Amino acid sequence: MTARILDGNEVAGIVRAEVAEAVSALPYTPGLATILVGDDPASHVYVRGKRRDAEEVGFASIHHELPATAAQSELEALIDGLNGDPDVDGILLQLPLPGGLDSEAAVERIDPAKDVDGLHPFNLGLLVLGRKGLRPCTPGGVVRLLEHYDVPIAGKRAVIVGRSFLVGRPLGLILSERGVDATVTVAHSRSADLAELTRQADILVAAAGSPGLIRGDHVKPGATVIDVGINRVDGKLKGDVDFDSAAEVAGAITPVPGGVGPMTRAMLMVNTLEAARSRRG
Ligand code: NDP
Repeated sequence: MTARILDGNEVAGIVRAEVAEAVSALPYTPGLATILVGDDPASHVYVRGKRRDAEEVGFASIHHELPATAAQSELEALIDGLNGDPDVDGILLQLPLPGGLDSEAAVERIDPAKDVDGLHPFNLGLLVLGRKGLRPCTPGGVVRLLEHYDVPIAGKRAVIVGRSFLVGRPLGLILSERGVDATVTVAHSRSADLAELTRQADILVAAAGSPGLIRGDHVKPGATVIDVGINRVDGKLKGDVDFDSAAEVAGAITPVPGGVGPMTRAMLMVNTLEAARSRRG
């Protein structure tokens, strides 16, 4: 293997330490509320991790659970209560919601000022406009990781595989905004000749949810490969990148686990701090 490993665990630790230092200087304790609906085991693990991070950086962690049978009105009443609670700076609604619940309506119910996942249409709209606002955590984490390792972005060609509102689209917007200045291509399942596209990338981001989709022959020699994918295959976590073959060609690469996942969690802490500062002045 020749590629440098971009260590998301290490950088996430640095980000959390920065947040903890900033929190210790505040005259109040920011509050992060988590909402977990139903009993999906993966969601339980994710929320537990987020609560642990929140406590580590010095936030108050306020947790609510609802049964999978909860009505939409019950979930929205809980969100309304948290919107109005002065001690709550951020609201994290763990997705996906159990079938029968409308996640779009629930996310839209969250006060945009407390939308620390950055998924409310208002915040996504600010992102499209290139204005300040709460931004989705995974794209933010990818950019922070690139910056930490001094990966050149301005003027470079970035290819993102995946166009979801959660990852691919917002990341494309961020990487191409003024001041970041990459030239971005967003590929998807209807893109013709994916390998031909991805081989043009100086920065190649895989966010397709398709294990091992990106192999060495998709990668331009020396490129930086960011693997967002988290797929469970035979009980193991696998990325969207075939690590072994890609690492032979790439200049730098993120592992799964230990790459983008911890960065996503760390950016939730950054967003909660930012939400607290904006709201409380
Ligand atoms: P979605 O299913 O919402 O979107 C997947 C995107 O990838 C779609 O745009 C789809 O195209 C495209 N795609 C799927 N297969 C192919 C293919 N063979 N070739 C080209 N494009 C393809 O997924 P998410 O964006 O929510 O998540 C993507 C992955 O990232 C998942 O593995 C998820 O678990 C992971 N993830 C990881 C996070 C982290 O913190 N590390 C956070 C969030 C997600 P089309 O639009 O045409 O269907």
